[in-house]
Amino acid sequence: MAKNYYDILGVDKKASASEIKSAYYKLAKKYHPDLNKDNPQAAEKFKEVNEAYEVLSDSTKRSNYDQFGSATGPNPNDFGSATGPNPNDFFRNGQAGGFSGFGGGFEDIFGSIFSNFGGMGGNNTARTGNDVTTKVTLSFEEAAKGVTKKFNIVRTEECEHCHGTGAKDGTQYSTCTECGGTGQVRYTQNTLFGRVVNQGPCKTCNGTGKIVKEKCAECSGKGYKRANVTITVDIPAGIDDDQIVTMRGNGDAGIRGGPNGDLQILVKVAPHKLLTRDGFDVYLDLPVPFTTAMLGGKVVIPSLEGKLELTIPEGTQSGTVLKLKNKGIKHLNKSVYGDMYIRVMVELPKLNDKTKKNLIKKLETEFAESDYSKFKKFNDTTHSL
Ligand SMILES: [Zn+2]
Ligand SMILES: [Zn+2]
Repeated sequence: MAKNYYDILGVDKKASASEIKSAYYKLAKKYHPDLNKDNPQAAEKFKEVNEAYEVLSDSTKRSNYDQFGSATGPNPNDFGSATGPNPNDFFRNGQAGGFSGFGGGFEDIFGSIFSNFGGMGGNNTARTGNDVTTKVTLSFEEAAKGVTKKFNIVRTEECEHCHGTGAKDGTQYSTCTECGGTGQVRYTQNTLFGRVVNQGPCKTCNGTGKIVKEKCAECSGKGYKRANVTITVDIPAGIDDDQIVTMRGNGDAGIRGGPNGDLQILVKVAPHKLLTRDGFDVYLDLPVPFTTAMLGGKVVIPSLEGKLELTIPEGTQSGTVLKLKNKGIKHLNKSVYGDMYIRVMVELPKLNDKTKKNLIKKLETEFAESDYSKFKKFNDTTHSL
């Protein structure tokens, strides 16, 4: 389970966006490394506060976190190859979205705090696009063996007319002279905490490095638009109920050159008629006629590889668990398989006619207490009590 982001910010689970923002500002100021040079723990706190704010300030991430206990779902690392067949196909520019310690996010925090004080900066720097979420229900076998599914989703995409620049034909812009096209400027600020030199987004070009001369008519200068797209996803073998497959870079387009958001697919797995699973092991309760259990014999059982013939050894007691090694579910992204466990449930037949009843009565007289080792031991113990 991830950290409790609400506790970190000291807000209620139902806190409004503005309550979260104001709690964040207070804590970001309190733990800012520039103001806590003698307190090494402050940096850690600062990071934690930013991490919490990054999730709780984004409505998609917040609702993911509320539902799944994580902004991106459980252990995204577990998905390995499920995170997108060709990461290079996507428009990632290597820039981490949001706050990642003291890298890309640092200026953003300053920008936000300063704009709160009426200083410079603002919310105009490159941002990661929002995540898009969808859901799929798989059959037991599909989840166990992996399956390719198509998803129709709506997401924002870079406007192809202006290549995301927001300028007509993608050419009607000039390089910002204020920042030389970098979108970032250095500035000195007198603040409550003293004089701070920092870097922040260029106000003239909103951090884009470009000045649009004529807006693209297709997207009204936004640089992106809504699109219906079909995405084919290879869901890996071994996925389980309530897990999330993340397709990196397949969510909403990044803002102002930021990386795209992700496509998050919540997986539900429908129950099988006979099999159940726990992790990567498969379980089966197998009714076996008492005669087969006593004499031994063959029965047909379902498995992930189709129907299998299983040998019941002579004298198999009810409750005996038979194990078929490596007949379970493939581990996610590993060539390792779980096992299959078959619990023998000896079934007694109905004595629905006199002949059968007499036959069993005759059997009863043929067997003595000493033929039943457990029953005998039990009786002996009882007598000795
Ligand atoms: Zn456009
Ligand atoms: Zn500029």
